[in-house]
Amino acid sequence: MIIAPATKQINIPYLLKIGAGKMDRIGKYLFDKEMKKIAIFTSKNTISLIEPRFSDALKEYDIKIVERKLAESIDLEVVAHSAFSLPRETDAIVGIGGGKALDAAKYAAFLLQKPYICTPTILSNDGFCSPGSSLLVEGGRKSVKSKMPFGVVIDLDIIKVSPPNFLYSGVGDMVSKITALFDWKEAFDRGLDRFNDFASMLSYNSLDLLFSKRGYDIYALEFQRSLATSLTMSGIAMEVAGSSRPASGSEHLISHALDSICVKPKLHGIQVAIASYLCALLQNNPNAHLINEILEKTGFWEFAARDPIAKEEFVAALKLAPTIKSDYYTVLSEKVSYDRAADLIATDQALKRVIR
Ligand SMILES: [Zn+2]
Repeated sequence: MIIAPATKQINIPYLLKIGAGKMDRIGKYLFDKEMKKIAIFTSKNTISLIEPRFSDALKEYDIKIVERKLAESIDLEVVAHSAFSLPRETDAIVGIGGGKALDAAKYAAFLLQKPYICTPTILSNDGFCSPGSSLLVEGGRKSVKSKMPFGVVIDLDIIKVSPPNFLYSGVGDMVSKITALFDWKEAFDRGLDRFNDFASMLSYNSLDLLFSKRGYDIYALEFQRSLATSLTMSGIAMEVAGSSRPASGSEHLISHALDSICVKPKLHGIQVAIASYLCALLQNNPNAHLINEILEKTGFWEFAARDPIAKEEFVAALKLAPTIKSDYYTVLSEKVSYDRAADLIATDQALKRVIR
């Protein structure tokens, strides 16, 4: 029997700035929150992207960097060591960059119970504003309990120059909400999971916001603004639900399986989008055509077709996927799904382009 959760505290970002030129204002945002001594986690590549704007913005408000960490490893023990070596006077931790720096910064902030300001320089998935950190634990990638950012600052001038593969990955991670929400509802209808209406609404709305009003030009400023907002909302939906259910279903299981099977896995959102279209067909999801349409109009299919996933690897991932999380009902839990999926990979026009 599933019992309603006890009242829990929901953390949402108190500082949320998305727009062009936001990096130039970061000193003011921190100053307003009385964060005068900060530690930053970043990567080598990021520094050239943000400097000298970042340092100038801090100088203007006399914000001091007490420590700079190059987040080269996301091994939990290495990150924990980094966290506990930070000076006690640190008011806040700022993560700037893509995956690794943000995951490390978020976890360090969680361990030290300090506020965390997240500054993504790419929009490739919804992990930056979620309650988990993706870290290496004993050699394997795991989502570890962490904390929601206190602040999210996204400078669209930086996003504008990010490579298209990251933007397509972000689009793919958003599209996947269509199948994730369907799996969640089905699990609930079978009495196998609890459902949260508000989290589900947030997740649906974030998707709606992105694709119903903003067109399909991934290079347009308004599309990128909307993508940033939608990915942020998707992360918040996970916090509200107290699980990854609103953002992750069968399609994410296939992607996790691909990560462990493929010689060279693709970006998270690229794998997830392809799997999402397949899973929507398996679900008889009435919005399967919508996924296909979004992936066609944004140019995703064409992009993914240039570097397809090997068929043998995808089929092996299909077999592994339902075993990845125990007690997690998705359409892949149905016995018939594997044969149906293999059949669809061989016959569906869109899938044949990207799985070869
Ligand atoms: Zn995802």
